[in-house]
Amino acid sequence: MTDHPGNMSCEEFQSQLPELIGSGQIDAPHPHLKNCELCQALLADLETIAEAARQLLPIEDPPPKLWEKIESALKSEAESRGGDE
Ligand SMILES: [Zn+2]
Repeated sequence: MTDHPGNMSCEEFQSQLPELIGSGQIDAPHPHLKNCELCQALLADLETIAEAARQLLPIEDPPPKLWEKIESALKSEAESRGGDE
């Protein structure tokens, strides 16, 4: 197990994703994304979901339910891609 800054685990990175997307900080490339194709794909999926949600709900503060949806999408992504059962 390595623990370098910018080399966090997918689990750690994904736990921060809703915050990053919600704050708009995801526009700045995250160090983890540079060497993780899985999270790049996951981020693309989440941005699609978040963008669709913004168009459906043109409000400044996303409701908790939006993040619940994103988090459940994250979990199903992880389950379908992880194969760790
Ligand atoms: Zn990752």
